[in-house]
Amino acid sequence: MATNFIENVIENDIAEGKHKEIITRFPPEPNGYLHIGHAKSLCINFGIKAKYNGKCNLRFDDTNPTKEDVEYVDSIKEDIKWLGFEWDNECFASDYFEETYEYAEKLIKKGLAYVCDLSAEEIRLTRGTLTEPGKESPYRNRSVEENLELFRGMRAGLYPDGSKVLRAKIDMSSSNLNMRDPVIYRVLRAHHHHTGDKWLIYPMYDFAHPIGDAIEKVTHSICTLEFEDHRPLYDWVTENCGFENPPHQYEFARLNIKNTIMSKRYLKKLVESGIVEGWDDPRMPTLSGMRKRGYPAEAIKNFCATVGVAKANSEVDPAVLEHCVRDYLNEKANRVMVVENPLKVIIENMSGEEDIEVENNPNMPESGTHKVKFGREIYIDKTDFAVNPPPKYHRLVPGGMVRLKGAYILKYVSHKEENGEVTEVRCEYIEDSAKGGVNAGIKVKGVVQWVNASDAVKLTLNKYYSLLLDEKDGVKEFDERINPESLVVVKGALGEPYLAENEEGEQFQFMRSGYYKLAEKRGKDLLCYLIVGLKDTFNR
Ligand code: ATP
Ligand code: MG
Repeated sequence: MATNFIENVIENDIAEGKHKEIITRFPPEPNGYLHIGHAKSLCINFGIKAKYNGKCNLRFDDTNPTKEDVEYVDSIKEDIKWLGFEWDNECFASDYFEETYEYAEKLIKKGLAYVCDLSAEEIRLTRGTLTEPGKESPYRNRSVEENLELFRGMRAGLYPDGSKVLRAKIDMSSSNLNMRDPVIYRVLRAHHHHTGDKWLIYPMYDFAHPIGDAIEKVTHSICTLEFEDHRPLYDWVTENCGFENPPHQYEFARLNIKNTIMSKRYLKKLVESGIVEGWDDPRMPTLSGMRKRGYPAEAIKNFCATVGVAKANSEVDPAVLEHCVRDYLNEKANRVMVVENPLKVIIENMSGEEDIEVENNPNMPESGTHKVKFGREIYIDKTDFAVNPPPKYHRLVPGGMVRLKGAYILKYVSHKEENGEVTEVRCEYIEDSAKGGVNAGIKVKGVVQWVNASDAVKLTLNKYYSLLLDEKDGVKEFDERINPESLVVVKGALGEPYLAENEEGEQFQFMRSGYYKLAEKRGKDLLCYLIVGLKDTFNR
């Protein structure tokens, strides 16, 4: 059953017997790292491969040598693998430069392309507008022989960069600007990351792309809506180059997320200006950033499925992505206790230490249990004790009681203050008040997390927040909306020692706080990254 309009097309094509096999491709330009928008395109293309038992190629659209690099090629491959997708063929548009060149000569021979000596600026100025036709180039009627000689000369390096281009000869008064004799080849002396210095001319994306698709026998070439106006040119190229059973292009709406930058060009600016630490900074909307932060690949794929495939552009609330991450981690992440702002609690009637067994994840009994020690000195969070509690405060107060998560009920005895700040609380614990004990039924409203003092581990928490602030008072530019507090570092938090027994990279729920990744073990100290808070603001 088709779940979106692209699958509808595919299922119709299958029913009509149009294709032996469905082939898609994911075509990134290696000019930056992949971001969450690319994940959507990946899910669509690889989703079709899986659903219709077809193929999906990875094709690097590398026609802009000055912007591209192997660093990006490598990172793109790593990110796709991380999402769990396997491509069939790994291709480069530049692998087809020779064939692409032959097709250009073919067009020249058919009288459908000409070498033009106008400058880029002159071409732009003679292109016309949406309401006015363009002006024909004075070079438009060069003979086939002259065009062939000049084009071969372009390839051979007879002309300086930018002095000549090859243009498709279509229609300068077409209502579609892309059809007004678009440039299909340019002279450019630039080192190419994949072909080295072999080429002095490079095809334009609009020419190379349909040819790459056709050579790979792609059946459904799926791209984002801004290419809708390029479709007539796409079809013109495959038709006039003479491909049989040519591929067809289908467009879907880009993924846009509120307050989230989704353009490699601007993400690159963030990296170069040092606003973030790199493409994989945990605040970045890149797949490598999300991986580093601790977002599970599955959660990202669930998010793409939740958003769906649409024909109209829209903006998604970042809460939807956070919801998917939280939803996934709620099922998979083990629970641990951490106090961010430790407040010492002395339990007067406790001596020695005992082991308490706690469930790793109540949603997943098979995840087992681990032990925490309970002794005379523990820490609770400063926010869980109040001398002058606000209304509806169900935690520890003078004269009150609170339950320690997974353990006993505590009863307030006294507290110390210094300069108006509480520095220590003394309590008694109620014996047999743990789960299953005879006093377990005593009514206490609040439950707080705690950490045993004698074996607590030290934590540094990197808390990440949105890189961009909301648009406000007409300020839309990214540069003016950078959140100065997108990273808050909390030192001096304490956690249970079980955390340190785990591997770096493991994700946890810090109870009553949020989901964190154990990022780095630095001797006795642990560095953890906030993945997402506990509170869900996504309203279905
Ligand atoms: P950017 O502007 O970030 O460079 P792009 O569209 O130029 O993005 P490409 O590397 O050309 O990036 O994209 C590879 C594929 O991913 C294309 O098919 C493109 O349509 C798709 N894609 C890019 N951004 C998004 C997005 N935000 N939502 C969905 N698909 C996207
Ligand atoms: Mg691009």
